[in-house]
Amino acid sequence: MTKPLEKVAVVGAGILGTQIALLGAHTGYQVKAYDPVQNAFSETYQKIRLDLEAKNVMPLIPWDGWEECKNSVQETTSLDEAVSDAELVIEAVPEDVNLKNELFKQLGMKTIPSAILATNSSSIPVSRMEDSSGRPERCLNIHFYFPIQGINIVDIMGGTKTLPEVMQMGIDWIYSIGCIPLKVNKEILGFCFNRVWRAIKREVLYMWANGFVDFRDTDRAWMVFTKMKEGGPFALMDKVGLDVVYDIEMVYYNESKDPKDKPPDALLEMIRRGELGVKTGKGFYTYPDPEFLSPDFLAPKK
Ligand code: NAD
Repeated sequence: MTKPLEKVAVVGAGILGTQIALLGAHTGYQVKAYDPVQNAFSETYQKIRLDLEAKNVMPLIPWDGWEECKNSVQETTSLDEAVSDAELVIEAVPEDVNLKNELFKQLGMKTIPSAILATNSSSIPVSRMEDSSGRPERCLNIHFYFPIQGINIVDIMGGTKTLPEVMQMGIDWIYSIGCIPLKVNKEILGFCFNRVWRAIKREVLYMWANGFVDFRDTDRAWMVFTKMKEGGPFALMDKVGLDVVYDIEMVYYNESKDPKDKPPDALLEMIRRGELGVKTGKGFYTYPDPEFLSPDFLAPKK
């Protein structure tokens, strides 16, 4: 695959931005990482590394290449320095539409006219920032999943005026960093896989909250059908954090105003009791030894 471009800037070197920068460096791009916080990239790099090692995740970047990738990323606290010669800018700043609009305005002024401006936002379509940039025809959503090191699918979606060749360059870039682009042809909240996952969450929460099925049986069925060892939808929600799950469901509900999209009160009650999942030691299951990890969980006996 020929490289569609060479110079990439990542704006916002937090959990997602740092991983995007590393992946770009690993696949031969000249990467600059900007964050207003001094050493944000280096410090987040350490955190991610320790976290992935502890979880035994098989990274896309082999462990012996991590330090070299990190050293080849040029870290800066100057936005001008990071983006002035970039051909692709991906922002991964906090999920705030006003902050992202201000950033797109700055990027429109500070980058070369041909630069593609992309957002890694989980829930904001680029159409809500494209006008601020002054170049809506070169704007994209390029949405990575967390952890990038374990999940190599990337959603890509245009705004209202994105040129087909810009979409194609984005797709080529995603392939070139060893990921699979999931092309979203028309703007939709949640892109491709988030939407699938969200449909599952909505249904299983409905079944649980209304007393139709014990959540453990839902997870058992999931584990048997998908052959996933690490639990089913309820175990996954515990891992994400039930407060985070609730907030995400509310984003969909606020968009549709459909009562069927509203997360159940029973979930809110768990959150109010501090049962947030893995991070508080209790959610649907109790941690660190949740019952779905026990061999008995799937044993065909009473
Ligand atoms: P994070 O809080 O880990 O990192 C955000 C970084 O942005 C921080 O380092 C912060 O210092 C920096 N920042 C703040 N203001 C800035 C500014 N004006 N300019 C540049 N940098 C600034 O956040 P994250 O989890 O990496 O999320 C970033 C984006 O990625 C969000 O839009 C989020 O929706 C999206 N996303 C997150 C996940 C996830 O699981 N965390 C998954 C997919 C997409």
